[in-house]
Amino acid sequence: MFEMFAHSWKDIWLVLLSVVHLALFFVVAFFFDALSWPWLVALGGLLVFLYCTNYQCVAHNFLHNPFFKWEWLNNAFSVMNSMVLGMPQTLYKYHHLNHHQFNNDVPEPPAMTQDRSSTFRHARTPGREETFCCTRCSAHFARTCTPCT
Ligand SMILES: [Zn+2]
Repeated sequence: MFEMFAHSWKDIWLVLLSVVHLALFFVVAFFFDALSWPWLVALGGLLVFLYCTNYQCVAHNFLHNPFFKWEWLNNAFSVMNSMVLGMPQTLYKYHHLNHHQFNNDVPEPPAMTQDRSSTFRHARTPGREETFCCTRCSAHFARTCTPCT
């Protein structure tokens, strides 16, 4: 079974985390009416934790090092994890690889940054974006918001 992994059998923990994340969606959906509000709050908190962990650990590791030896299994995992994240894994991959390629670059006026997630991209004055602007813009994955005004 562990021969299916391309790099390390320990990637099974990341795969299982994504499976648990998906399963928790179904648990909450199917038992929503039967669960008391403290359980719903606890499960909601767990889902938020799993979202963050999935983006930072599972999806991030997967886009750099696809887990499986077989492309069809990597594609199947990508589809499943896309459903769990509510966003195409492929979009995250190309956005994130752009970030690594240009590494939070500083714009050379009049040009924009090449890193689409650079913290300098939408700054009103030379330097980094203000924290509020940066946070607000980060809510849009592809950073399509207009510069802060
Ligand atoms: Zn990375």
